[in-house]
Amino acid sequence: MLQDNGLPLRKTATNLVFGEGNPEAKIFFLGEGPGYWEDIKGRPFVGNAGALLNQLLHLIKVPREEVFITNVVCFRPPGNRDPFPEEIEAFRKYIDEMIEVINPKIITSLGRFSMAKFIPGVKISLVHGKPHSVDWNGRKLVVIPMFHPAAALRSAEVMRMIKEDFLKLPEILREAVKPEVKQMHLYE
Ligand code: URA
Repeated sequence: MLQDNGLPLRKTATNLVFGEGNPEAKIFFLGEGPGYWEDIKGRPFVGNAGALLNQLLHLIKVPREEVFITNVVCFRPPGNRDPFPEEIEAFRKYIDEMIEVINPKIITSLGRFSMAKFIPGVKISLVHGKPHSVDWNGRKLVVIPMFHPAAALRSAEVMRMIKEDFLKLPEILREAVKPEVKQMHLYE
């Protein structure tokens, strides 16, 4: 990705924010795009939204090092504007490859841009916190859409909902890792 000079947003960004975490993570968090601090440090979710993400992970007793965290675009959009569809599209092959390699059990989308990658045409206010079974490039993924932590920092009601949704994650993960029980009908 660093060598791909065709990627948009490169000229205005300070650093590539590739993503970080456990390469064998069971939970893959997908945010929107690097902000001011992420751009400077080259790491995802290290500003105010990141501090809240850390608190939410602490709430469910999941160490940050155990999960993987990245964004739909890996260079900061200037002034923290929303990423444009063609920018998200340009990064898609890299994000898809990360998902392919890490092969997580759950994808937690943070905000509407990453949700739309897996579950297009829905409203986050209606589907947040609900696991969706998604057939993704021939593999079954459980996607659980969540509000963006930055939205929770602006609204007490969103904060209440994001906490409630995070508290569902451990049980959703337990279900997702359960091996499929194959019925054996020996005398069929
Ligand atoms: N917001 C995001 O969507 N991603 C980050 O990495 C930081 C803030």
